[in-house]
Amino acid sequence: MTVHFPFQNSYSALPDSFFARVAPTPVAAPRLIKLNRPLAVQLGLDPDVLETPEGAEILAGKTVPAGADPIAMAYAGHQFGQFVPQLGDGRAVLLGEVIDKDGIRRDIQLKGSGPTPFSRRGDGRAALGPVLREYIVSEAMFALGIPTTRSLAAVVTGEHVIRETALPGAVLTRVASSHIRVGTFQFFAVRRDTDAIRRLADHVIARHYPELLGAERPYHALLGGVVARQADLVARWLLVGFIHGVMNTDNSSISGETIDYGPCAFMDAYNPSQVFSSIDEMGRYAYANQPRIALWNLTRLAECLLPLFSDDQEKAVAEAQDILGAFSDTFSDAYQAGLRKKIGLFTERDGDDALIQDLLDAMAKNQADFTLTFRKLGDAAGDPAADDARAQFMDPAAFDEWARRWHERTALEPQTAAERQAAMHAVNPMFIPRNHRVEAVIQAAVNDDDYTPFEEFVKVLAKPFEGQPDYAAYADPPLPEQRVLQTFCGT
Ligand code: AMP
Ligand code: MG
Repeated sequence: MTVHFPFQNSYSALPDSFFARVAPTPVAAPRLIKLNRPLAVQLGLDPDVLETPEGAEILAGKTVPAGADPIAMAYAGHQFGQFVPQLGDGRAVLLGEVIDKDGIRRDIQLKGSGPTPFSRRGDGRAALGPVLREYIVSEAMFALGIPTTRSLAAVVTGEHVIRETALPGAVLTRVASSHIRVGTFQFFAVRRDTDAIRRLADHVIARHYPELLGAERPYHALLGGVVARQADLVARWLLVGFIHGVMNTDNSSISGETIDYGPCAFMDAYNPSQVFSSIDEMGRYAYANQPRIALWNLTRLAECLLPLFSDDQEKAVAEAQDILGAFSDTFSDAYQAGLRKKIGLFTERDGDDALIQDLLDAMAKNQADFTLTFRKLGDAAGDPAADDARAQFMDPAAFDEWARRWHERTALEPQTAAERQAAMHAVNPMFIPRNHRVEAVIQAAVNDDDYTPFEEFVKVLAKPFEGQPDYAAYADPPLPEQRVLQTFCGT
C-alpha cells in the first residue's frame, strides 16, 4: 500500500521570495503515537495506510510523499512588540495543500521536521511535550467550536532534542486553512515589495475571503474581513477562558484561526490578569489584554496594506483607521452575546451587561473556577436547589445575592428551566484541557512512554459539552499542590 496525498498546491506557485524550498530532514526511528483518524478522512487520506510504517515515515518527514512540494514559508513579525524582519518557518515544512471533504483548502505541515534556511540558531526540531500539548489543546479548541489549526498526527522521532536537558524529539502534523500570518505581510512590507503584498493579498482573498472577490475596494474589504474574524476569535477565547500566551504578529493568522500553541493555557480560577507564559514577564498577553493585542496586531497588518489602499498616504491611513475602528464593536458584540448565552439569557435587555459584569467581578473576587461556575450555573437553571455554582465562590453569599437577580431576570423569559439548562450546557463546556492534566499526560508520555493518559484525555476533550460521568474527575480544578503556575514555549 502506498500513501496517497491528493495534493493541489497553490502557495508554492507564488514567487520564490515567498518561501524556501526545503525537504524535511530524515529522522532515525519514527514511531506513530497518534493519528487523528476522523481528520485524516476529512482530508481525503486513508487512515489505515497512514498507520503503516510507511505512513509514520511520511508523518516524521523521513519520506516525502508523491505530489508534495515542501517549502518553509517566509515571514517576519513583532515578538513582544519588537520587530524582527525575518523569522519564517524555522522548524516546519509545508508539504502541500489538499482540498478537504467540505471543499476547503488545507495546508499539511510538519512541525519539528528539521532545519530550514529560516532556522537561525534553532535546531529545527520539537520536543515531545510541546507536540502533545499542541495536539491536545488544538483538538480541544476544535471540539469547543473555536476556529483553530488542527493536529493530524504526532510521531516520536527516535532522536533526542537538547533543551535544558535531552528530551525525546517529535513531529506534529499540523493542518491549517493556511499558515499565512500578519507577519507574512510584514515580511514584504519591510522590504517595500508592494507587488508581493498585492500578490499575497490576492491569494488570501481567493483562499480565505472569496466573498470579497469583485468587491469595489478588495484590499480595504480584506482588512475589514480579517478584523471581523480576529475580533470574533478573541471573543471566543475569552468565553472559554483561553490564554494564547504568545500573540506575536507571526502567530496571528490571516484566516482567523487560532495558531501556534506554545505556552497557551486555560485558566482555572477566573482572573482577568492571568498570565501563564514564563516569557511573558510584563503580562502583555494576559487574558484580558488579548482583545487589545489583537487590535494592535491588526494595526500592523493595516500598515502593510496602506500602499494598496491609496497613493495618498494620509487618505490611506484615514481609511485604515476607519476599518480598524470596527474592531471594538465587533469584539464587544460577540463577547457580550456570548456571555448572555453563558448565563442562559435568550433575549437582550437593559441591565444585562451589568448583571454579567457583577457576576464576573464576584467570580474574580472569590476565585471561582471559570469553567465550573458557568457549567454549574446551567444546573442551577434547571434545578434551583443545585448549588454547585455557589460552591465555587469562597464566600457563597456573594453568589446568593447575584443569583437572586439572575433568577428575577430569567423569569422574564418564557423558556422552561429544562430549555434554559440545555441551552447553557450547549455553550458552557464541562471539560477543558486543564493545565495540570496536560502536564500530567505529558509527564506520563515523556517519562514512562505511557500514552494511555494522553489517549483518554483526548477522548474526553472531544466531547466537551457532554456530561461523561465516568470521566467526571477531568472536570475538577487542580488541588492547590497540582496547580501549574507557569507554561513554557519549549522551543
Ligand atoms: P514560535 O515561538 O514557535 O512562534 O517561533 C518563533 C520563531 O522561531 C519562528 O520563526 C520559528 O520557526 C522559530 N523557531 C522556534 N523554535 C525553533 C527551533 N527549534 N528551531 C528553529 N527555529 C525555531
Ligand atoms: Mg510561531
